[in-house]
Order: sequence, then structure tokens, then C-alpha cells
Amino acid sequence: MTPEKYDLHCHSTASDGSLSPAEVVRRAGEQGVTVLALTDHDTTAGLTEAGQSAADHRIRLIDGIELSANYLGQCLHIIGLNIDPRCPALMQGIAGQHTVRAERAQKIAEKLEKKRIPGVYEAVSRAAGQGEITRSHFAAFLLANGYVGSQQEAFDRYLSKGKPAYVPTAWAEMAEVVDWIGQAGGMAVMAHPLRYKLSTTWLNRALPVFKEMGGLGIEVVNGRGSDDEIRLGCQLARKHGLYASVGSDFHSPDNQWLELGRLNDLPKDLPAVWELF
Ligand code: AMP
Ligand code: MN
Ligand code: MN
Ligand code: MN
Repeated sequence: MTPEKYDLHCHSTASDGSLSPAEVVRRAGEQGVTVLALTDHDTTAGLTEAGQSAADHRIRLIDGIELSANYLGQCLHIIGLNIDPRCPALMQGIAGQHTVRAERAQKIAEKLEKKRIPGVYEAVSRAAGQGEITRSHFAAFLLANGYVGSQQEAFDRYLSKGKPAYVPTAWAEMAEVVDWIGQAGGMAVMAHPLRYKLSTTWLNRALPVFKEMGGLGIEVVNGRGSDDEIRLGCQLARKHGLYASVGSDFHSPDNQWLELGRLNDLPKDLPAVWELF
């Protein structure tokens, strides 16, 4: 029997990915993934289409989501795995996050307008279509219209904290987000813990709180993480008794994001999140 190949973090056009949910699933199959979680930002809208496509590609689809959460003024991403997307508490939570995203998008556009960059709101709304508007959509607009030379520059010059088009955002509290995931029968996993540029001391304080709230896992292998980051992630998982997760955080075939399924193996001693599926 061939071993399973897991990828438990990726995006589609339901948020800031460039492929439709069905295309993401097909591509994952081509890359040899056998268990895939689609985890769009603050939405489950792509899961039905992904589930239909998964059957055609012999992939087991895990219903997922990547929720933006506030903890002590810091935005953290919490992944929900194996959730029931029809859970009322989760659906209500997602509706609130949608309002936050839509209002924030208008404010970002107003700030860019003040920097003499007109017409952004209409353009990003059109680009996002039925999907959630993210800062990636703004970065893509700024790049396509020649205001910046790369998406990274869009974040560095306009969209990141402290920059002219940054808007502080009232995401749900981490405790609420973990609670919605729990009510939806899923497991809460802290995404890419080392991407937030937080100190180890901060993380070592936050992770027991996350666990106390009901958090179960931590993403130790993330698409863009270095070997050192993987080692550190594994240390955090062991120290705090959290299940380990792996995900590419794939967004698109043609940018800096990593390919679906192209992930390092977990060290054998670490319990993996899929033991709980
Ligand atoms: P949002 O959730 O709307 O704040 O958008 C966050 C998304 O923007 C992330 O999920 C990434 O896909 C993207 N992003 C954040 N920072 C950067 C960056 N420095 N360069 C490129 N993409 C980024
Ligand atoms: Mn994203
Ligand atoms: Mn994330
Ligand atoms: Mn992600």
C-alpha cells in the first residue's frame, strides 16, 4: 500500500487562491496528494465544489478553513480541520468575519484613494467575485496597475502594519474562533506559528492559552518555512503537547507559493493531526 500524502492547508478562488476549488483538487491529485484540506480565509464556500471534485481524483477531502483571529492585538491564523460547514455557530462566526473583511476592504480602498490610487474598490470586488476580499487582491491590483513591482512590494509599501493603507482589523477573538471550530466538530490548529515574527517567549505563553481554549494542533511544516523553522515548530509541538500538522499554503501555480503536496515529512515521534480524523 502506498503511504498517504497529506496537504492540510491551501487556498482557492473562494479567498485569495488563483485556482477554482475543483482545479485545486485536480492539481493536488496530479502532485500525488491523497488527503487534502481546503482552507480558505474565513470561508467554507469552496468546500462543496472541492468535495465533488475529490471523488473524481481519488482524494480524501478534509473540510477546512483558515480563520483570522485576534489575540492580544496580534492577528493569528487558526486552521479548522474536519469541520462541519453547516454548523450554525461556525456559519454565524463566518458571517461576522465576512462583514469585517468587506468593511476593511472599503477602508483600505479609501486610504489608497488618498494616495491618489483611484478605483481600487471596484477592481478588487470584481477580482474577488463571490470570494472573500483579502489584502492579496489589493496587492495584485497594485502590481497589475504598475504602482509596485511585486506583490511583496505592495505589502512593504502600502498594506503591512504601519504602512499608509493598513487598516487595523477587528477579527474575532482567538477564544471565539477556537470555539466555533470545536462546535463544528473540527480541530483547531495554529497556522505557521513562526511567520508572525513573534518571540519564542511570546509563543510559549500563547500556546498554553490556545490549548486551554481547546486548540489541538500546530502547523509545523508550512510551505514557505525553512528547515530551522520546521525544527522550531516541532519543538513547540513537543513542548506544548500539540498535534502536528503539515500544509503547503498553496495559493497559485505561478508565484512565490509552494506547490501542493511538496512538503517535508514529520519527525516520527510527533503525533500527527490526522490521527484524530
Ligand atoms: P488578509 O487575510 O486579507 O489580511 O490577507 C492576508 C493574505 O495576504 C495572506 O494570506 C497572504 O496570502 C497574503 N500576504 C500577506 N503578507 C504577504 C506578503 N508579505 N507578501 C505576499 N503575500 C502576503
Ligand atoms: Mn492567503
Ligand atoms: Mn495564513
Ligand atoms: Mn493560508
